Amino acid sequence: MKLRVDAHTHWSQDWAQRDGDDPSRWLARARAYGITHSVVLPLPGLADARVIATEHDRLARVCARSGGAMLPFCTACLAQPEEAMAEIRRCLGELKFRGIKFHPWLQGCSVSAPAMDAVAELAADFGAPIVFHDGPPTYALPSQMALLAQRHPRTAIILGHSGLFEHYQEAAAAVHSAPNVWACLCGPHIEGLRYLLARCPSNRLLWGTDTVSMNFDTRSYRVPLMDRLGLTEAQETAIYGVNPERILRL
Ligand SMILES: [Zn+2]
Repeated sequence: MKLRVDAHTHWSQDWAQRDGDDPSRWLARARAYGITHSVVLPLPGLADARVIATEHDRLARVCARSGGAMLPFCTACLAQPEEAMAEIRRCLGELKFRGIKFHPWLQGCSVSAPAMDAVAELAADFGAPIVFHDGPPTYALPSQMALLAQRHPRTAIILGHSGLFEHYQEAAAAVHSAPNVWACLCGPHIEGLRYLLARCPSNRLLWGTDTVSMNFDTRSYRVPLMDRLGLTEAQETAIYGVNPERILRL
């Protein structure tokens, strides 16, 4: 089977309201685009720390019904560092989540906070990557994440949006600044994507769709966008298959 891994999606409330914990219709859409595996990041828990644990339980139930096609990530509220560490341990250990996600400006947590350093070391102990929402500030510049990566060389740090529209050049610089910084092609426009492809080592690139809502499926935009880039066979194999396989321990 040819792998096509979408390294950035979310299981959103509209899907949960209609389908409960059953991902079959969500997966059918992914399959229609040739996507074999999807990283599923938290969503409501990024905006409301009170729902983080219940969202993790739901993500675990949904992904358990996907036959291995949906790979859950957890999050945590660093304002309560001890609870955050315990919840991350529960998810990576007991629930076998594949990684951690932070949305620094939505969650109000600095990439440079001491609590983040502790999380980065814990992630490395589990061999789990940390994916960040990155792009415009506050707390979301690729260069800030690069500094975290430099302080924690054992931890894989993924720029979840490769800088979005405004900071893709900085994202490429971040990838060059440390061997454990990865960029997920999910956000920049086509010229930004070309820039990243030309400058980043292709063994540290991932791809994602940021699929969220049932009503606007961003796979319908980001799959053809990538197809327009005319990737070489080697680039396709690396970005869709070999790289995610390596970082997600597929
Ligand atoms: Zn997202």
